[in-house]
Amino acid sequence: MRQVPYVNFRAQYDDEKGEIHKVVEKVFSAGEFVGGAGVGVLEEELAAYIGVRHVVALNSGTDALILGMRAVGLGPGDEVITPPNSFVASTAAIVAVGARPVFADVRDDQNIDPEAVAAAITPRTRAVMPVHLAGRVADMTPIMQLAERHGLAVIEDAAQSIGSRYEDRNSGSFGTFAAFSAHPLKNLNAAGDGGFLATNDKALAEKVKLYRSHGLVDRNTVAVWGTVSRMDVLQAGLLSMRLRRLPQIIDRRRRNAERYRQLLDGTPVFIPPCRNHEFNTFHVFVVQTDRRDELQADLARSGIGTAIHYPIPIHLQPAAAELGHKKGDFPVTERQAQRILSLPIHQYLTEADQVHVANAIKSFSNGRRHS
Ligand SMILES: *Cc1c(COP(=O)(O)O)cnc(C)c1O
Repeated sequence: MRQVPYVNFRAQYDDEKGEIHKVVEKVFSAGEFVGGAGVGVLEEELAAYIGVRHVVALNSGTDALILGMRAVGLGPGDEVITPPNSFVASTAAIVAVGARPVFADVRDDQNIDPEAVAAAITPRTRAVMPVHLAGRVADMTPIMQLAERHGLAVIEDAAQSIGSRYEDRNSGSFGTFAAFSAHPLKNLNAAGDGGFLATNDKALAEKVKLYRSHGLVDRNTVAVWGTVSRMDVLQAGLLSMRLRRLPQIIDRRRRNAERYRQLLDGTPVFIPPCRNHEFNTFHVFVVQTDRRDELQADLARSGIGTAIHYPIPIHLQPAAAELGHKKGDFPVTERQAQRILSLPIHQYLTEADQVHVANAIKSFSNGRRHS
């Protein structure tokens, strides 16, 4: 039986083997593993790609959120508005700086609802953190207007949206700063943890550069208390190489998404349409359907790997108990959590793979079971 894994790192390695080995050779022969020139090179390439003045390479997207918020001065007593249907890191980062996460529900397309943001603003609100989920940029025009009117910082969790656009602007170029992740599962992926912060604010970038390396301004002088969150030179080299391939990776994912739309037309799965002004890079391809769990099990029996991003809304996680939420507080998020299913969308998927997936979904929907 055809196997269609949710991700395929082996195919990526086979495809990139020669280039990966060149990077390894270069880094090991130079013998610079931390703080080498390759990191600065990557930062400039990323700044040009995203269309911002400064990029700071870090060891994760989570640290980009935490160190960026620390540089903005967010802390105890401050509220940050964010959606409850993200990967946990967005909310956890708010808690990590001592601020309070305040949730706002999402729309059909799984992104934060600007009207819910407006309703969540209090005198203690200092920032709003939209998450560009699955590769689709949140509705930034009304969010930026709200932020301006209320004097809020805007923190883009762009971990899933490198290369995505909204009204011809790149994700990560709207906010006070943006956090990107280069985790192996992301579209621009390292061979381990990695992330970076993007901003037009020079002072903010300088602060984060201090924080990421013990607050050291030179070898012996500690200007501020910092931490260690540098990107390894090896990861930076890999990401420079993969950044050159990113346009093709995005093209393939978009082509795969288009093909799914055609193949799944007429089936009962709901696929949120793309609006004219958005360029979605499909980090994840999410369908929404009743009987999601049964469909997932059925697809697994057909050799098809799927995932759920995310089955438990953050406000209902045990860790969030202190925030005092209950079931029913964010009904759109909660309903989606029961209906969403992520299909394989990676750049190595073939047309035959997608036909296999679509046929399995169709026969499930028609009530025919297969082994
Ligand atoms: C992956 C991800 C992060 C965290 O990135 P790491 O590099 O794994 O720390 C944050 N937010 C969202 C929405 C993510 O998908």
